[in-house]
Amino acid sequence: MARYRGALCRVCRRELEKLYLKGDRCYTDKCSVERRRYPPGQHGQRRSKISDYGIQLREKQKVRHGYGLLMEKQFRRYFEEASRKKGVTGELLLQFLERRLDNMVYRMGFADNRRQARQLVRHGFVTVNGRRVDIPSFLLGAGDTVGMSEKGRKIPSVSESMEKAQHRGIPGWVALESEQFRARVERIPSRDEIPVTAQEQLIVELYSK
Ligand code: SF4
Repeated sequence: MARYRGALCRVCRRELEKLYLKGDRCYTDKCSVERRRYPPGQHGQRRSKISDYGIQLREKQKVRHGYGLLMEKQFRRYFEEASRKKGVTGELLLQFLERRLDNMVYRMGFADNRRQARQLVRHGFVTVNGRRVDIPSFLLGAGDTVGMSEKGRKIPSVSESMEKAQHRGIPGWVALESEQFRARVERIPSRDEIPVTAQEQLIVELYSK
């Protein structure tokens, strides 16, 4: 599948927001958003009026990029699935994104960022309910347990990430058993438990046009 291969910090600067795409660096004053709070490019420092459509588009991009630089087609599919379900579409959309296996591996602290999490999944180091799953978009539900395989537990970056994640904070809807390298999804998080600053209602408006 096609993937964005450009500079990650550029993506955050475009959205004028920290999307935590890199890991360690994101928590230091080396973060590009902290140092240059304006969009990248020649005209980045120019002030220009942004249309309603522009605002909606930026909110969508913020979420799409924040969840591991997802492709537009894939992101739209989540939206369509969310709009078919009963409930608040914007919240359902974010819940779908949260339930992705690569996101959970990141939230549970086995990886520093979603890119690293995706790699762990793709390389077969992650299990769901004891069985190996190598699909980053695999959707988890309440009660599912994510773990690291025997080989995965020996990867130094996994232990390092788990240590760092203690400082970053593990979400309340995850029950982590760090000694066993596994964590259980206690429940699907509600909107206020999802640390996304974007206004999801604007994404719904954008796609509903
Ligand atoms: Fe984004 Fe992290 Fe780069 Fe900061 S350091 S701009 S949060 S990827």
